[in-house]
Amino acid sequence: MDQTPSTLNPAPALNLAERCQTRLSRSLQQLLRTSARTAEAHGTGVYAVGGFVRDVLLGVSNEDVDLTVEGDGVAFARHLAAAIDGTWKGPSAFGTAVVIARDGHKIDVATARRETYKHPAALPTVVPGSLRDDLFRRDFSINTLAFALNGPEAFRLIDWYGGSTDLAEGVIRVLHNRSFRDDPTRIFRAIRLEQRFGFVLHRHTLRLLQRAVEKRCIELLSGARLWRELRLMLEGESPVACLRRLDELQILPHIDAALVLSPAQLALLTGVTDARIGLAETHPEVIGRAWPLYLATLLYGMEADPIRRIGTRLALAPRAIQELLAGMAAVEAACQRLRLEVDLRPSAVVAALRTLPLELLPLLLALSPRGDVRQLIRSYLTAWRHVRPGLTGDDLKRLGVPQGPQIGRLLTCVLAAKLDGEAPTLEAEESLVRRAVTQGQDA
Ligand code: ATP
Repeated sequence: MDQTPSTLNPAPALNLAERCQTRLSRSLQQLLRTSARTAEAHGTGVYAVGGFVRDVLLGVSNEDVDLTVEGDGVAFARHLAAAIDGTWKGPSAFGTAVVIARDGHKIDVATARRETYKHPAALPTVVPGSLRDDLFRRDFSINTLAFALNGPEAFRLIDWYGGSTDLAEGVIRVLHNRSFRDDPTRIFRAIRLEQRFGFVLHRHTLRLLQRAVEKRCIELLSGARLWRELRLMLEGESPVACLRRLDELQILPHIDAALVLSPAQLALLTGVTDARIGLAETHPEVIGRAWPLYLATLLYGMEADPIRRIGTRLALAPRAIQELLAGMAAVEAACQRLRLEVDLRPSAVVAALRTLPLELLPLLLALSPRGDVRQLIRSYLTAWRHVRPGLTGDDLKRLGVPQGPQIGRLLTCVLAAKLDGEAPTLEAEESLVRRAVTQGQDA
């Protein structure tokens, strides 16, 4: 590994300052300027590092700044918070702090540190170190880039580990042979970055990754760390590509033996993405969290027991597992009902979809290729789900319905009649209720 800093000539220095000026929000630029002044005032060196620098060079918008301080990062965070009249939180177990500006902008601040691993997948042991140590503890060369905010070298790219070449060539490369074994979450980070930027894993890095998988390093990860990485994948820009790559590299069975991606499942995942994109255009208000949707799709068709086992491996809360199972059952039930019944009335469609969490709707759409069924789902979304009875519970009491569960049941009947065009006016709703009261039944 070349340890010589290949700090570049003044042209890229100018370029970095310019890029920050043109690409970052004004409030972030202001924060960076105040950070530089605070560092000067306290005689410390402060550096922008990691993914933020990578994205500035890529021209990708990223306002998540990570600052590294050679010296006392927590003291710097305190000074910075005071300088901007903001607040700060921390320090974490790794000596990091977050500074929060009055407009809500956050900056992560860390003391430059060195990390060692007692055993594979252990959390690192951390000691203060130099900037060079701090960059070397990072996962991939493209994340080792940095620049100083203050001092004579401000805005000069620091590239000690070949990051800018790898960035230009679109290569993901670890810094040393033990990287994946030290921290197997990097297996997932590598794939996520590869798919996100359309990069490739360097040949040697790929071999190291495969060796770590074969040595069962993923099995050593805690459920919480494993889930954090998987969730980032499922919430990212390319969840299906990431899952496909995990399958291709035979990583999924190392999470659970039942996790394999059949061609049908892959097609379903793709269908879900298409449906979600379509819905985002027509009904953005029903687009919910991505991870429950993709997790439900990945597990769709499995029995409840392996789903519970996988949820437990991923350290999901029992309630989250329960919600996942209930959501999947609601999709299955809605799918059956819409598929089997012909000439569904609007009230039957509403009854079929009422308990379905809206964020799982793309899964139902992907499972329902029939045009007429899709049309029913669309009508539900645009119109039927918003329909409410004209009468209220109080109105029903006024009409002689006794207090109790019958009120709820009757309101459901009134709603169904309204949806199906059988009670188009308030008078029609009232006469339906009166009839029910006289007949002593629900409707
Ligand atoms: P993203 O845009 O997905 O958040 P990021 O690169 O900013 O990507 P973070 O998870 O915010 O990622 O991490 C910030 C930086 O910390 C990374 O750029 C990387 O340098 C370093 N880092 C994060 N996780 C690891 C890890 N497991 N091992 C080594 N370095 C890591």
